[in-house]
Amino acid sequence: MAKKRKYIFVTGGVLSSIGKGISAASIGMLMEQRGIKVTMLKMDPYLNVDPGTMNPFQHGEVFVLDDGAETDLDLGHYSRFVEHAHFTGKNSFTTGRIYDAVIRRERAGGYLGKTVQVIPHITDEIKKQIRAGSEDSDLAIIEVGGTVGDIESLPFLEAIRQMKSDEGAENVLYIHLTLVPYLSSAGELKTKPTQHSVRELREIGIQPDILLCRSDRNLSKEVKDKIGLFCNLQGEHVFSAIDVNNIYEVPLFLHEEGLDEKIVEKLGIWTGRPDLSKWKKMVDKIRNPKNEIVIGIVGKYTDWRDSYKSLSEALIHGGVANDTKVNMLYIDSEEIEKRKNQDLLSKVHGILVPGGFGERGIEGKIEAIRFARVQKTPFFGICLGMQLGVIEFARNVCGMKNANSYEFKPDGEANVIDLMESQKSVTDKGGTMRLGAYPCQILTKHRGHATKAHEAYGKENISERHRHRFEVNNNFRGSLEEKGLLVTGKHIYLENKLELVEIIELPEHPWFLGCQFHPEFLSKPLKPHPLFVAFIKSALENSKTLQKSFPGV
Ligand code: GLN
Repeated sequence: MAKKRKYIFVTGGVLSSIGKGISAASIGMLMEQRGIKVTMLKMDPYLNVDPGTMNPFQHGEVFVLDDGAETDLDLGHYSRFVEHAHFTGKNSFTTGRIYDAVIRRERAGGYLGKTVQVIPHITDEIKKQIRAGSEDSDLAIIEVGGTVGDIESLPFLEAIRQMKSDEGAENVLYIHLTLVPYLSSAGELKTKPTQHSVRELREIGIQPDILLCRSDRNLSKEVKDKIGLFCNLQGEHVFSAIDVNNIYEVPLFLHEEGLDEKIVEKLGIWTGRPDLSKWKKMVDKIRNPKNEIVIGIVGKYTDWRDSYKSLSEALIHGGVANDTKVNMLYIDSEEIEKRKNQDLLSKVHGILVPGGFGERGIEGKIEAIRFARVQKTPFFGICLGMQLGVIEFARNVCGMKNANSYEFKPDGEANVIDLMESQKSVTDKGGTMRLGAYPCQILTKHRGHATKAHEAYGKENISERHRHRFEVNNNFRGSLEEKGLLVTGKHIYLENKLELVEIIELPEHPWFLGCQFHPEFLSKPLKPHPLFVAFIKSALENSKTLQKSFPGV
């Protein structure tokens, strides 16, 4: 008989934002390093069909997969922690998608006249999608979004409750993450919120097998035993999950606590101990960097870092590859506009303009790019950042004062960034973006010198993920190239033999590169993305010269 798949369900209690995604990803990483074929899923209890249309202010970044699925940012954590799993749209679904499927089926007569209800129809659909997303794995780790006690997550919790009897008790494990706060006035760790949260879970029929207790200090054996007593499990199934300096330390800490050992024991999986040597080496590099630099990130969501989660992680990875700590200075582009204050720009060792939508703060970003070009500060433009790089070049080098993007000026006469003709008639917001992985051809040499893109990638054919609506307008390519803008990456759009610009560079500059895609989605701590490695390297070189002129920065 074929081996039965095992399932781990991760729920969260007490508060949101206590690190459920990182905990789930850490468990995934530890299980994979034990040699188990792992996949991970995220179920989100909101009604949007996917997070693609949600404001990153509210929900954090939209993480894009190869197949073009726009998913929750936790998929980003999973991708960075789990090496081999290949995630698709099936690995992330929302209440909206579940209802959408059920209602479509009802309209098509698929329920044969029955009354369609939350139980069993919605819960059956949830279980169906859990199983579909778990295919090709021996162990699926499923994170339930939201906090236990929310009305919204009830159908998900009911579905995972049923999974235990469907799949067999020995194949399902419930892990609950809670918060154990330290109350300084009482001088002790408080277990009451955990007790309440577990009581709520048990009321709906789920007895957690393992508790992960987030706290600022280790839980003593007495505290664990006390929690165990009140929550109907043994103290040895209660684990500390203490705050750590960087997220990549979490799995190492949980391993030291014995979590992965306990999980395989409870699920009856026979494996060796995990090989964590590479991971430890990487964490060591983050702990003890040889150099330190500052990268200025010029954007408008300046104080909401979660909307640039993958980006900041990719910068850290690029730092690891260069033994360098990367400090990120978020520079509000609207402030640059108002004050024309370039102080901050001259203090950073590299300037990055990330992706984004909408007109706010655009001129400040263009000014930051002009500064980087003229001052020869290493510059990395991603998606919108690249588009603005092209606009800046067109305006200030080619003298096209009206250069702009269709996004900001649909009737502009010099839209160097434009919609593809084929898209001009499409009005549906959901369906017009270039989403997901596209191949890109790299130009290897220009006038006898290796291009920056080829230097970084070391190959001619790559694939990168996209999420944008606009493209460089080919009608202006000639004028831009004549003045020295070099296209070093392109996508051949086969059907209509159209070339789309994917990477631009300025050969005379130490490192000025823009890409239409989002390289940050492919960067992993053990496999830093080549463009981030190269950008940090040039910023590091720049810091060595800058130190002379800007002591103390
Ligand atoms: N707003 C731009 C576009 O739609 C860039 C998008 C992005 O940076 N992800 O093309």
